[in-house]
Amino acid sequence: MPDTIFAKIIRREIPADIVYEDDLCLAFRDVAPQAPTHVLVIPKQLIPRLSESTPEDTPLLGHLLATVAIVARDLGLADTGYRIVMNNGDDGGQTVDHLHIHILGGRSMQWPPG
Ligand code: 5GP
Repeated sequence: MPDTIFAKIIRREIPADIVYEDDLCLAFRDVAPQAPTHVLVIPKQLIPRLSESTPEDTPLLGHLLATVAIVARDLGLADTGYRIVMNNGDDGGQTVDHLHIHILGGRSMQWPPG
């Protein structure tokens, strides 16, 4: 499995502004923020994308979503709201092959997305 930039962040080989960590996942600020608050929540285990997850990953996927809620609350987004995005594959706009959930907040979001 090829290494990704996110694996290097998990291993602390490149710096990141980490806002949350536990045994299973890490959350850090996106290097190219698309909103005043833009954080990525990733599993420490490599799952390239949601479509490659397996039934064994179900508890981890649930943990990631629960972590999103904790991180968003800790960042002060719970009251005003926020958007979560998981890009999957080429048409989804995924650029890093390590599953991640974007948390975007601090401004009003538009719909439909581009
Ligand atoms: P995707 O397009 O795959 O859904 O999202 C990948 C995200 O990772 C992008 O928003 C991009 O800005 C972010 N990203 C890419 N490389 C780095 C990096 O080295 N550090 C951080 N913090 N974010 C990165």
